[in-house]
Amino acid sequence: MSVRIGIIGTGAIGRDHARRIAQVLAGGTVVALADANPAAAEAVRRDIAPGAEVFARGQDLIASPSVDAVLVTTTGATHEPYVLAAIAAGKPCFCEKPLATTATAALRIVEAETALGRRLVQVGFMRRYDAGYGALKDAIARHTGRPLMVHAAHRNQSVPGDFDTPMAIHDTLIHEIDVFRWLLEDDHVSARVLFPRTTSRSHANLRDPQIVILETAKGVVISVEVFVNCAYGYDIQCEVVGENGTARLPEPMAVQTRTGARLQNDILTDWKERFIDAYDIELRDFLQAAARGTVAGPGAWDGYMAAVTADACVSAQALAGEAVPISTPARPALYD
Ligand code: NAP
Repeated sequence: MSVRIGIIGTGAIGRDHARRIAQVLAGGTVVALADANPAAAEAVRRDIAPGAEVFARGQDLIASPSVDAVLVTTTGATHEPYVLAAIAAGKPCFCEKPLATTATAALRIVEAETALGRRLVQVGFMRRYDAGYGALKDAIARHTGRPLMVHAAHRNQSVPGDFDTPMAIHDTLIHEIDVFRWLLEDDHVSARVLFPRTTSRSHANLRDPQIVILETAKGVVISVEVFVNCAYGYDIQCEVVGENGTARLPEPMAVQTRTGARLQNDILTDWKERFIDAYDIELRDFLQAAARGTVAGPGAWDGYMAAVTADACVSAQALAGEAVPISTPARPALYD
């Protein structure tokens, strides 16, 4: 069976997921597209999914009887109404991160799903599907002993001009927030944010870089550098320090060259390449579960928990290094 997919949001990642479903993965067909910018949806239809219908409104796409499951790949602050509509329609929904840009909005999604009593939402936390993070989790279980500290960095070469200081949390750090919960099997209990000297490549609305310090319920201290105008490439680093030793996230595969008295390898610049296999696997997981009318992988609860921590980090941005406590809400049985 091929799951009939509708995609709302056909910008960078929506287009890439359309390519993935149409050209890489089995089990899905892109039958419908919608975007606030109709030319973007039209371009995906023309280049990738010639049979797809272009809808003027995402809500009409969700309601269409020719759509079995929905991808929400619009900008973060616009996800909530589409995800709620997919739940109301009883259709599996893959929502790109962040599930929502506030914990209050994410909670409304959790409440809608719990009221329905069926899991229908997968959140695009693709790092959980990455072989490198999988190996790191395994190394924690087998080699490092109890984790004590994590040192991490999330560096982008550059970001669009409208990217601001809170977006470094909602849009960027959100990956780390989720992957640490998963990696350490632990919840965040406090957040602090420090601002080093700002790069001259940034602007008045974006303090860049930032250092976020998270503490977990088990006492692990995590320091993450978020530097979204680092200029040199797209670079994700993570080192776990345990009581018996350390474990580091593997570098992406890169050919090493020796020429002109230099030993070199390239650093990626495009985020699409860094986790390309993980995106494939997360969407394969989605298609397989959607064929059974459900979802697998990180869900609305994970999206909500990430939003709770993100809210605390954004509050901490205003407090010059002061810690903001994070409470862990009780988890509904649906997510056990
Ligand atoms: P993008 O290139 O700006 O594309 C978003 C598209 O959605 C644009 O065409 C935009 O149109 C459209 N849009 C905005 N609001 C809409 C609405 N209410 N209804 C319908 N369409 C709307 O952004 P992107 O980089 O693809 O990011 C999209 C989402 O994916 C974000 O949540 C982002 O955080 C996430 N993302 C995840 C990863 C990952 O690694 N998992 C990587 C990249 C992005 P206009 O341009 O006219 O506003």
